[in-house]
Amino acid sequence: MRLILLGPPGAGKGTQAQRLVERHTIPQLSTGDMLRAAVAAKTPIGIKAKDVMDSGGLVSDDIVVGIIKDRIAEPDAKSGFILDGFPRTVAQAEALDGMLKSEGLKLDAVIELVVDQNALVHRIVKRAEEAKAAGQPVRKDDDPEVFKTRLEAYNRDTAVVAPYYEKAGKLTKIDGMQPMDQVSSAISGVLRGLN
Ligand code: AMP
Repeated sequence: MRLILLGPPGAGKGTQAQRLVERHTIPQLSTGDMLRAAVAAKTPIGIKAKDVMDSGGLVSDDIVVGIIKDRIAEPDAKSGFILDGFPRTVAQAEALDGMLKSEGLKLDAVIELVVDQNALVHRIVKRAEEAKAAGQPVRKDDDPEVFKTRLEAYNRDTAVVAPYYEKAGKLTKIDGMQPMDQVSSAISGVLRGLN
C-alpha cells in the first residue's frame, strides 16, 4: 500500500503514520525526520537545510525529491510506504508521480487531515511542553513564532497539493480535529474501502 498523509504541521500526520506502520508493517517516510537526521549528522544536505528548517521555511524541492527517490528505492519500501510531510509542493507531487510511473507503481490513497489552524498553535505549544516534561529534546521549529512561519509556508506552497490529488480522484478528507483514535478509525475505514 502506498499512502500519502497531507495536512498542516501539527495536524497529527506523524502520530497517525506511526500507527499505520504498526498496523500495516510498511515504513513511514518522513522527510522532516530524514532532514533532521541529516542536520544532526552534519551531512552536506543537513548543513544546507539547517537554517531553512530552523526558520520554518521549506527546503528546496531538489533536495527533498532526491532524498525521497533514494528512500523509496530501499528494500523495505518495496511493499509500500506512508509518506508524511512529502509532497509539500506541486513540483514535489509531480516529481513523485514521475518516480512512481517509471517504476510502474501507483498511489493507493491520499488522506488529508483537515484541521482548524487556530487550534494548531495551542497543539504545538502542548507538544513542546510534553516533550520537555518527558526529558525529550524540543524541536526548535516548534517555537510558536517559527511555527507560524511553518503554517504560512503550508498555506502558500502546500495547501495546493490536496487539490492536485483531488483532481486525480485520489483524495479523501478526514476531520483531524477529532480525538486521535477516531482519526485512526476514519483512516482505517478509508483503507478498507480501497480493496
Ligand atoms: P516536518 O517534520 O514534516 O514538520 O518538517 C520539518 C521541516 O523540514 C519543515 O518545516 C521544512 O523546513 C523541512 N521539510 C520537511 N519536509 C519537507 C518537504 N517535503 N519539502 C520542503 N521542506 C521540507
